[in-house]
Amino acid sequence: MSERENLSRSDHPYRLINRAFHPEFQDNLQSMTVTVAGVRIGSEEKPVIIAGPCAVESREQTLEIARAVKEMGANMLRGGAFKPRTSPYDFQGLGEKGLEILALAREETGLPIISEVLDVRLIELVGQYADVLQIGSRSMRNFPLLVELGKYGKPVLLKRDMAATLHEWLCAAEYIAVEGNMDIILCERGIRTFTIQEYSRFTIDLSVIKGAMEKTFLPIVVDPSHATGNPAMVPAASLAALEFGAHALLIEIIGQHTDRSTIKCDGHQGIRPTVFRQIMIDIEHWWNIKSRE
Ligand code: PEP
Ligand code: MN
Repeated sequence: MSERENLSRSDHPYRLINRAFHPEFQDNLQSMTVTVAGVRIGSEEKPVIIAGPCAVESREQTLEIARAVKEMGANMLRGGAFKPRTSPYDFQGLGEKGLEILALAREETGLPIISEVLDVRLIELVGQYADVLQIGSRSMRNFPLLVELGKYGKPVLLKRDMAATLHEWLCAAEYIAVEGNMDIILCERGIRTFTIQEYSRFTIDLSVIKGAMEKTFLPIVVDPSHATGNPAMVPAASLAALEFGAHALLIEIIGQHTDRSTIKCDGHQGIRPTVFRQIMIDIEHWWNIKSRE
């Protein structure tokens, strides 16, 4: 009996998102496609680029970045209105005002928006504005949040807890799927190892892309910004993630002339639009070669 046949669906901890139980996804590690306002994330598609500020800090800041990334070919805009911060004294986000700013940016640029939901009590509010609801790394194990987002039904981006195994991450995705929502996008954002900020903020786990693709058919995004915490590493990490099979990238951007020290959240790691432009050019070249293979 093959390993696949050996697996019994009923006693497997994740079933609905398990590649082994889906005959339609048996070939070539092909993935499902999640469609967000016409943007298709998944295999056979050109990589989707999601870019934007870490946090929405002001209307001017967000619109400047949104216009720049749109002009350079990004497909979606990111930005946190409710931020999970280490210290309670850190900037916590603009809340609903931040969501209104994101909606303005979407109106102007046409880019769908993705924003984090920190708590079950915020699902309705964030859901009124965002096209994709982000579950942050620190919330991957917030099981009531996973359940409610499964019921809510809008596409979800599920970040990997910085200390989660692949198995735990996929079980978290199953919590969403079991409630009837299959529009799940996985996001690798770096794991905690012994580098602890000596040379990178987290360790980018490129191997998990292939690992996840073997176990599930859900599309996978890589966030090179949090995974490295270093703007100088973001271009190489972006290309490497795509070469490993990532279907999309989630990249933090700062204003072209903004003083990093004035940024309230993750100012040290965002890349400037000029750097983003070069990444987009490099991806275009990479894709042209890849799609001819
Ligand atoms: C973010 O995307 O802004 C964020 C807070 O990421 P993470 O949850 O991966 O730390
Ligand atoms: Mn951030």
